Amino acid sequence: MNDNLAYTVNQAILSIIQGDITTQATDAIVNAANSGLMGGGGVDGAIHRAGGPAILEECKQIVARQGRLPAGQAVITTAGNMEAKHVIHTVGPIWHGGSQGEPELLASAYRESLKVAAENNLSSISFPSISTGAYGYPVDKASRIALKTVATFLQKTTSIKEVVFVLFDNRTLEAYNDTLWDIKGEKG
Ligand code: ADP
Repeated sequence: MNDNLAYTVNQAILSIIQGDITTQATDAIVNAANSGLMGGGGVDGAIHRAGGPAILEECKQIVARQGRLPAGQAVITTAGNMEAKHVIHTVGPIWHGGSQGEPELLASAYRESLKVAAENNLSSISFPSISTGAYGYPVDKASRIALKTVATFLQKTTSIKEVVFVLFDNRTLEAYNDTLWDIKGEKG
């Protein structure tokens, strides 16, 4: 079954696919990193394994220069051996029930990643589902913030032409597809 969904916003295409983000050929792929930028499990581990040691080298230099990366912020490195040219590392919030600024921090992680992409003249970018793995953010809530934040950003930006959500598992794919249908419906 082909569940791929696409949505045109301004001059850009926002799409949702199932897959492994490390094989995406967009200008940048986004890593759901942790503040230490030293790699980890989930998508973070997969990106460092696929990209090789050059990514960790740059991450170490960034942390030496500016310290740990706070939740909601983003930085860019090489993508090493992967087909993408860059990795944009961002840190999503850990879910503590929703009343500790999680929605705003999650929106910021998406927004700051897009800002870094635009500042580097990148025209295509792939996102994983930030915070909904080890960080425990409920995927129905997170998908709404993810898609709305990206759509709002694309309405104000013309340099980014393509945003792809690359979702690993079925449950996450379905949640994002449902949310995208809802958002399209709300716009009439
Ligand atoms: P976080 O700590 O921000 O929750 P995780 O990496 O634990 O980050 O999970 C975020 C999402 O990334 C989850 O939906 C997980 O299934 C997914 N994921 C894991 N590996 C990959 C991959 N190679 N490509 C895309 N998504 C992945």
